[in-house]
Amino acid sequence: MLDIKQDIILAPYTTFRIGGPAKFFVEVVSEDEIIEALKYAEDNNLRFFVLGGGSNVIVSDNGFDGLVIRLISSNNYVTENSSIVSWAGESLSSVVNFARDNGLGGLECINGIPGTLGGAVRGNAGAYDINEIGIGSMVESVRALETKSNPKIVEYTKADCKFDYRMSVFKGNPELIIISVKLALYKKDRETVDAKMKEITQKRIIEKPKGWVGSTGSFYKNPKVTDLKLVDIFEKDTGRKAVDGNVIPAFWVISEAGLKGKEIGGVKVSEKNANFIMNMGSATAEDVVIMTSFIKQQVRGKFGIQLQEEIQYVGF
Ligand SMILES: Cc1cc2nc3c(=O)[nH]c(=O)nc-3n(C[C@H](O)[C@H](O)[C@H](O)COP(=O)(O)OP(=O)(O)OC[C@H]3O[C@@H](n4cnc5c(N)ncnc54)[C@H](O)[C@@H]3O)c2cc1C
Repeated sequence: MLDIKQDIILAPYTTFRIGGPAKFFVEVVSEDEIIEALKYAEDNNLRFFVLGGGSNVIVSDNGFDGLVIRLISSNNYVTENSSIVSWAGESLSSVVNFARDNGLGGLECINGIPGTLGGAVRGNAGAYDINEIGIGSMVESVRALETKSNPKIVEYTKADCKFDYRMSVFKGNPELIIISVKLALYKKDRETVDAKMKEITQKRIIEKPKGWVGSTGSFYKNPKVTDLKLVDIFEKDTGRKAVDGNVIPAFWVISEAGLKGKEIGGVKVSEKNANFIMNMGSATAEDVVIMTSFIKQQVRGKFGIQLQEEIQYVGF
C-alpha cells in the first residue's frame, strides 16, 4: 500500500532548495509502485510529475498541483557479464561505485554528478571525456513505462533512446517513465577505475562550485554559435577547442557578458562557474526566473546567442 502524502514542500527534495508544495507526494521503489501511483493519479484526476534526485529542476514557488512520484533507492542493481542492470531510482553515484567495485569501467567521468540513474539517462548527463556523448553512450537498453493511455512497459534499444547532447527520447516525451537501465560497460582493473574517479573528483572540486546543495549544476546547455570570431576569441582566451568547431561553454559566454557574481534577490551567478546560478539561502523560484531572463537577454544582446535551459521547470 502506497503512502501518499499531501502538501509536501518540495524544496528539500531538490538540490536548489527552492519550491513550494506538491498537492500529493509519494516515494516509490519499484515498477509496481509506479503503476499503483499512476492509478491513484488517474482515479483522482491528477497530473503527475516524476522526480529523481531533484538536481536538475526548478520548482515553482506555488509548487505542483498534482502528484509527485519520487523514485528512491531500493539497492536494486546487478551485473550481467560486463553490463549493469539497475533500477532507475538508484543514485548515479551508487551505480558508479558499484561499477568500480565490480571491476567495470566506462562511468568514471560521470562520477560526482548528483541525481538518479533515471534522471541522468533522461537528460543524457555527461561530463569531461563524455560531456557531449553523455551516459547514453553506455546505455544498452532502457525499460520504460509509456503512460499516455493504459500504462505499458516498453524496451528501448540504445538507438530508440535517440540520445543527443543533453537530450533523449524520454526528455522529449515526459509521459515516458524510465524504470530500469542496462549499461554496457567493460572490464577494467578496479584500482585504475578508482584512480580515474578520484581524478574526476579533484577536477570537479577545482572547477565547480562547492557541494551539491544550492544549485542545479549547469543551468544552460553549451550553445552552438554561428559567429566564428567568438569561437576564435574563446579558443585564444582559454587555450581550449570549441566542440565540433562551434560549441562553446555557456559559463564562458555568461562570464564574457560580465555576469559573474551578478545578484538578483536571493540568487547569484557563481564566481567560479558562471553557468551555475546559486541559491544564497533565501532564494525564491521567482528570483531564479528573473535572473535567467536577465542572463538570456544580456547574452542575446551582446553575442546574439539564445541560451537554452538544461534544467526542467516544474509547476510553472
Ligand atoms: C552540483 C551539481 C552538479 C551537476 N553536474 C552535472 C554534470 O557534470 N553533468 C550533467 O549532465 N549534469 C549535471 N548536473 C545536473 C543533474 O545532476 C543531472 O541532470 C542529473 O542527471 C539529474 O538527475 P535527477 O535524478 O536529479 O533528475 P531530477 O532533477 O529529479 O529530474 C530532472 C528531470 O528528469 C525527469 N526524470 C527523473 N527521473 C526520471 C525517470 N526515471 N524517468 C523519466 N524522467 C525522469 C524529471 O521528471 C525531470 O523532468 C549537476 C547538478 C548539480 C546540482
